[in-house]
Amino acid sequence: MSPDSSKLKKRNLSVGISALILLITITVMSLAFLAVNQRRGSDFSYTITGAVNLNYWRETTGTPVTIKSGWEFYPNRLLTPEMIRISRLESSNVRYPYYKGVTITSDGWLDLGEKAELYSFGEDVKKMSRFGVGTYRIELVLNKSVDYVTLNIPDIAQSATIWVNGKAVRHYGTVSDSKEFYEPSQVCTDIQLVPIDGRIEIVIDCANYSSPYGGILYSPCIASTATIGMIEYSVRMYLTVLCAFWVFFAIGGNYIAKTFNGKTKLYFFLLMFLADILYEILSPMVTILPGNWNKLIMITLMIFANYWSFLFFLSLYPKGTTKLFDKLRFFEITIFSMLTCCYLLTFWCFPSLLYLPSSVVANMVLILITNIYNVFRVLYMSKHYEHGKYLYMSSALLTVAMHFSFFVRHQYFVYITLHAFLLIFLAIGFTLYFVKDYVQTYEKLEDNNRNLESAVEEKTKYITRVNQDLLHNHERLLENEEARKKVMSNVSHDLRTPITAIRGYIELMLNAKEPLSREQEVQYLSNMHTRSVQMEQLISDLVQLTRMESENDTIEKMPISIKEMVQDLFQLYHAECEGTKKVMHFHAPEDDDLLIDGDPKKLLRVFENIIVNAMKYTREDGVIDITCHRYEDPAMLGGNAVEVLIKDNGVGIPANEVPYVFDRFYRAENSGINKTGSGLGLSIVKSIMDKHGGKIWAESEEGKGSEFHIVFKASEYTFDEEPEDEE
Ligand code: ADP
Repeated sequence: MSPDSSKLKKRNLSVGISALILLITITVMSLAFLAVNQRRGSDFSYTITGAVNLNYWRETTGTPVTIKSGWEFYPNRLLTPEMIRISRLESSNVRYPYYKGVTITSDGWLDLGEKAELYSFGEDVKKMSRFGVGTYRIELVLNKSVDYVTLNIPDIAQSATIWVNGKAVRHYGTVSDSKEFYEPSQVCTDIQLVPIDGRIEIVIDCANYSSPYGGILYSPCIASTATIGMIEYSVRMYLTVLCAFWVFFAIGGNYIAKTFNGKTKLYFFLLMFLADILYEILSPMVTILPGNWNKLIMITLMIFANYWSFLFFLSLYPKGTTKLFDKLRFFEITIFSMLTCCYLLTFWCFPSLLYLPSSVVANMVLILITNIYNVFRVLYMSKHYEHGKYLYMSSALLTVAMHFSFFVRHQYFVYITLHAFLLIFLAIGFTLYFVKDYVQTYEKLEDNNRNLESAVEEKTKYITRVNQDLLHNHERLLENEEARKKVMSNVSHDLRTPITAIRGYIELMLNAKEPLSREQEVQYLSNMHTRSVQMEQLISDLVQLTRMESENDTIEKMPISIKEMVQDLFQLYHAECEGTKKVMHFHAPEDDDLLIDGDPKKLLRVFENIIVNAMKYTREDGVIDITCHRYEDPAMLGGNAVEVLIKDNGVGIPANEVPYVFDRFYRAENSGINKTGSGLGLSIVKSIMDKHGGKIWAESEEGKGSEFHIVFKASEYTFDEEPEDEE
């Protein structure tokens, strides 16, 4: 495996694991939220118009409920503690003077809208803001087994008095007439409410006679003390899971982002994402700092997140992409930086503004402008800058969703659940987008890798083959060199022998002290003649062999009757045998000419050589059989072959030497010193046979004789057809 492909595999594995962990986390989270979001409340019943929303965190008996639309709301001045008490004394069916036509907002607060009509008292307070200044009343009927429940108010501003069953149980803050002075917001926890006959009447009087700001900022929550711990536990668990989710998302995203250029940008974006989660989750739940500080940190985070998103989308595009944004670049940075500074300065210098509804509107405007600008930038740029356009667009929309979730002010448990689902779905979408792109890129890489691997494999095979060829050629060259040396030494030896003999006779004749007799002269000259014939034969053999083996030597094929050719030779050598004890036989089919395609001169050399050898290597009374026939083996030369078999009962060839008889200068051990020969004949024969596409082999047993098989591919036509050809 190449290091690159192993890296790729490792990365793939990490991505796989991250994705798996992400999936498991999402599933577990979804199930957890589904499980805790069951409506199974049975602890409270309704006593007043509207419903106590028995909705969240309902696991066991006595688990907490948050009170939303079940509250009756009374503008402050109209409901005094005395009135409550008196009313209760007068009648169990409490009736207070109140506004008619009051509607309940989606937040659960009463809204004195245009239709609201003051029923019986003065007209000082006509309308209530979403901030809960006023008096709230709720009457609960509890399960008899519940000894007491606990009231928690997450955020209450200025001053408030809490009445339970007609008794003031707690008082918070001070009342001020000055608009400029506000009590910091506070968390009221663990207010014990003991039911009388299973009933609890709670009145929260958020007294503020001069300003409409303050009061209950988040809906109160009622729970038994035991379950308060559970709420905290659940919330902590939720936070942990969410953080884990974020971490896995970051890890998964990080691995996936490695295939993209914008890794740093992804980190940046994730940071924003984290900031938002922390802001959204922690802000209403964890009061680290008292009052304004808490709110200030929250708003600062929000303004920063907004500014980050602006910088993020600005950084996505390089300079010079479009003229419009190149020109705007300086101004937009200046304007957005200044806006951010202004907002931050304003809130830090005048924290009281945090309690004004107009601040909410102002924040919303800032966020709206930033997000519209971000989306516009992405839309405009994606026409000019194709890279990552879907990623950028989905990021922009995700940011819009995130920012506007700041303003979703549901009672916070609902808020967490809904928000968590929103985040999860956005995260899944976002991750899927990355994974899709990653997978595509990965597949491309994998493809290229595979192609490269197969190309390398092919090349390696090719190189190995070439290498083997080279090695083989090298061996052959070495062998040839060896053979050449051997040939040279053989040739020089075989040439020197007759020359030495001839020189010997010449010297004998020259140095003779007495004149030689005629017989002696004839004897010497005839010996010299024999030796020179021997030399001539050797030289001609050498020439022929060299020619045969050269590429230029072509054979001229024509139809030949093997039977006729061998028969002619038989007659010649049969005649030679006459007067000796040697016998020669010839066998051939009568009705078959045994036609082949060949070069007659060269084939003559083949048969002659084998016949002469047969005569040479047999004893005085040797028997030589020459047979011509069709070769009946279908595996031989396409099943249509003709054979000439020359058989003798001579000296034979030792079994271990048979394979070498066709080698140059090879002469078997037993060939005898008295038998003249160059050892070239059979190699000439072999090369002629090779050129004809024929086969030749020897079978022999030492002392018993030898068989030489000469096989050719038979010709397609017969002599009868030949005249037609000649025409
Ligand atoms: P040479 O000129 O020595 O005959 P050839 O190439 O014709 O050379 O033959 C090579 C060798 O093969 C011979 O030296 C001989 O030892 C052996 N040989 C060839 N034909 C026969 C045969 N019919 N019987 C026994 N030995 C043979």
